[in-house]
Amino acid sequence: MHELPVMESVLKIVLGHAERNRVRKIVAIHLKVGELSDLMEDWMQRYFDYVSKGTLAEGAVLKIQKIPVRFRCSGCSAEFTADVRKEAEIRCPECGADRPMLISGREYFIENMEVI
Ligand SMILES: [Zn+2]
Repeated sequence: MHELPVMESVLKIVLGHAERNRVRKIVAIHLKVGELSDLMEDWMQRYFDYVSKGTLAEGAVLKIQKIPVRFRCSGCSAEFTADVRKEAEIRCPECGADRPMLISGREYFIENMEVI
């Protein structure tokens, strides 16, 4: 359950941004979440509702977009994305080597937010 601290930090960032821009209300927050992060969307919204109570962001809807996982080939250094849920074994599309290095897929970030 690490959605709670994540949502607390998301809230802090959006509230800071809202304050600087004299926003009255935050209605939606667009988040990008790496395909491999173990953040659960339902829990993210639930925790967000909980931590944002009484703030400008109360009631804001999280719009979550998954970012594909990126790998770098250990043989030829090619970078590529792969669907880790569908492919049992990830191989480099350039040279066919297996066991590529994971370069992204666990991160999350705030893309933008909708305000009034
Ligand atoms: Zn390769």
